[in-house]
Amino acid sequence: MNEFLSIFKKGDIMYRAIISLLCTILFVNAQQVNKNTGMPVEERIDDLINQMSLEEKLTMLGGTGFESIPNDSLGIPAMNMTDGPVGVRWKQATAFPASIVMASTWDPALILKLGKAIAQEAKARGRNVLLAPCVNIQRVPHGGRNFESFGEDPYLAARMAVAYIKGVQSEKVIATVKHFAINNQENERFSINVKVGERAMHEIYFPAFKAAVQEGGSWSVMAAYNRLNGYYCCANTWLLTNILKEDWGFRGFVMSDWGAVHSAVPTAYAGLDIEMPTGQYMNIKNLLSNVRRGVVPEEMINDKIRRMLRAMIEIGIFDKAEADSGSIDTPKHRSLARTVAREGMVLLKNEQKLLPLHLENIKSIAVIGPNASEGRIGGGGSSSINPFYTVSPLEGIKNRVAEGASVNFNPGIFNFDQIEVIPSRYLRPPEGEGDQPGLLGEYFRNINFDSTAVIRRIDKQVDFDIASGSLDDRLGPDNFSIRWRGRLLPPVNGDYELSISSDDGSRLYLNGEKVLDNWGNHAVVTVRDTFQLVAGEKYDIMIEYYEQGGGAAMTLGWERIDPDSLERMRNMEQQKVLDLAKNSDVAIVVVGLSNRIESEGFDRQSLDLPREQIDLITSVVKANPKTIVVLQSGAPVLMDTWVAQIPALLQSWYPGQEGGNAIADIVFGDVNPSGKLPVSWLKRWEDSPAYGNYPGKDGIVNYAEGIYVGYRHFDTRHIDPQFPFGYGLSYTDFTYSDLKLSTGKISQNEQLQVSCTIENSGAMAGAEVVQLYVTDEKASVDRPEKELKGFQKIYLQPGEKKEITFKIDTTALAFYDTKIHDWIAEPGKFQVLIGSSSRNIKLQKRFELK
Ligand code: BGC
Repeated sequence: MNEFLSIFKKGDIMYRAIISLLCTILFVNAQQVNKNTGMPVEERIDDLINQMSLEEKLTMLGGTGFESIPNDSLGIPAMNMTDGPVGVRWKQATAFPASIVMASTWDPALILKLGKAIAQEAKARGRNVLLAPCVNIQRVPHGGRNFESFGEDPYLAARMAVAYIKGVQSEKVIATVKHFAINNQENERFSINVKVGERAMHEIYFPAFKAAVQEGGSWSVMAAYNRLNGYYCCANTWLLTNILKEDWGFRGFVMSDWGAVHSAVPTAYAGLDIEMPTGQYMNIKNLLSNVRRGVVPEEMINDKIRRMLRAMIEIGIFDKAEADSGSIDTPKHRSLARTVAREGMVLLKNEQKLLPLHLENIKSIAVIGPNASEGRIGGGGSSSINPFYTVSPLEGIKNRVAEGASVNFNPGIFNFDQIEVIPSRYLRPPEGEGDQPGLLGEYFRNINFDSTAVIRRIDKQVDFDIASGSLDDRLGPDNFSIRWRGRLLPPVNGDYELSISSDDGSRLYLNGEKVLDNWGNHAVVTVRDTFQLVAGEKYDIMIEYYEQGGGAAMTLGWERIDPDSLERMRNMEQQKVLDLAKNSDVAIVVVGLSNRIESEGFDRQSLDLPREQIDLITSVVKANPKTIVVLQSGAPVLMDTWVAQIPALLQSWYPGQEGGNAIADIVFGDVNPSGKLPVSWLKRWEDSPAYGNYPGKDGIVNYAEGIYVGYRHFDTRHIDPQFPFGYGLSYTDFTYSDLKLSTGKISQNEQLQVSCTIENSGAMAGAEVVQLYVTDEKASVDRPEKELKGFQKIYLQPGEKKEITFKIDTTALAFYDTKIHDWIAEPGKFQVLIGSSSRNIKLQKRFELK
């Protein structure tokens, strides 16, 4: 070609014409292969790969913030990503209930609709990859991200994951099942080495991922931060290549969690396809010569590109014209958020049918508690949504009651986790920088405060939280640092609790000494301590903050502590609260945790409710025995000391933006509760199978309990939980009868049909989640007493009866045999158990596997 061109002089008309013709041919060719012309997908991909230089390929192996890097000359668009499981974290969006609420609905058809709705919102925000669902198993109640999970059971989590992914991808948005794998705690999440046996991996921690990939068809998988049996998940060949890609046949791409990569060549080899948020390791600098020298085969790089292109083409990202522009905050989405919330709330206790409340008999309602006036819509971290509105429990109750009765509110205690941003009047810049209120902020375009600040200004306060976009165009969205300097002027003498909350790291210096350390890559984490400060003094203050990837947040807060007046106020308030409860027909106490207590980035320290909340519950119920407790949390809280004293308890979890209305729907009986626990609710931490093996030691956490997670442990070892797995009350009653098996004996690869009849024998229409468990009577290995292998949620009018049928095959009878590294169903006797929870088995029958 060069020779041919050399016969024309550069600048020659003919030379230019030929070049332009060649460009046109190449461009048209690229255009053609990139359009959906009916060319088979794999050919279309090969065609593109053949046109890419090695440099172009390597550029695609790292992201840029929440995008992949496009290739304009070949017409390869960017993948635009966004968190996360409970809605779209890109500007404002609908805040759906936490994933644990989704699991509590036990209704995959509903979760499919929710997946669709979130994907529609993603499209409306111009995003085509959703970083969800999160299917990690709840192993310990402390887990900071338990609220983002589908609970403790692999079968239930798998059904939810498949439904969610099908919903998302039906809207041509790529789902990303995360975090692969065994990412069950936040404590030391960036480095913890999880030691777990092969059987537990396959029976407990993998099934939801496997189903997400094989049945859900998830086009993307996110590799976790932690190490698994010694190797970082992102550089774990066994995990990413042998299991995921080879054994499970995954054809999509694996992305890293944000900043979870620690090497270039081992990571490339292990099977990671794209490093997020940037190609810190997997980049041209680290890989080009290694590929040229044959250390990393180019075909391995091609495979990574092929996987990304395949996902993008299959989902339709290349064919933009075909994609619609989505929709956001529609009445349909609002109402779906409310439906999921009320279907997922679990009625844990209801003595003497205190609930539902009948307004005809009620003149006054006391609404009490620190969570009542707040929309505690979700947990903290990368799944937090910025909704268009929220409905607090108090608002929901008021909306419903309208003129019907008086509703009076008292928080009962001071907000336990509200941080006051230090007001600008107590802040001044350093000497010589003026005397206006605020601190001097210096902003750097790197994370090390290097070179000259690109912005230098007085910030009145230190307080921002942005999910996406950038603080300032001069800064960019990620990889920046800020230093604030100045003086702190305390208004009165006394104890102050100073706090820094940040995503990622921050640290606070007082008079030159580092006093708070929140350094490290994490979602919003708060660090605080108490300092005695003197009025009239000027304290030198400096805050250093950096943001590497993902969301960006920083708040400098304080709480002034004056023990005497606190005590006085507490007593006064307490008397008011008790009077309110006493003088009302009924009291609704809304308590629980919050996104500052349950969050990505750290685990819960205590499993109890804050002490003041327990006192509040027990004193209010003494003042008014008709007390209903509404509890908000993403995982069990211990309640053995107070639950017996209260007549009614509704677990609302974190119910999303419509939570308040959904609570009112249940409390006033517009909706009959049907949610069931997707976790065993333990009485004491000592009863947990992980007790003694959490949070780990010397960087290692040993899953010594093996497969005995959740009810597999409680039921097999006959330990009473507070409330069992699968449990939840209804306002009506259901009768189970007529269990029939299609045969008494099945052979391998045969199906067993199980049917039974459920009748609504109460007076109110409602839904029941019928659960099917299997017991292996005798096996060559230790097996749990029972395991969930099927469920159906059915709606019945009073007096209505329905026959339901389950089909189970031998995979439901199998266990993972570590001798043959495969699943095996051993011949012998089994039992089918049908029940309304793992501890309330209503019908059972034996059958044999030949
Ligand atoms: C979280 C992921 C999330 C990512 C991007 C990480 O810290 O672990 O779940 O998708 O950030 O926000």
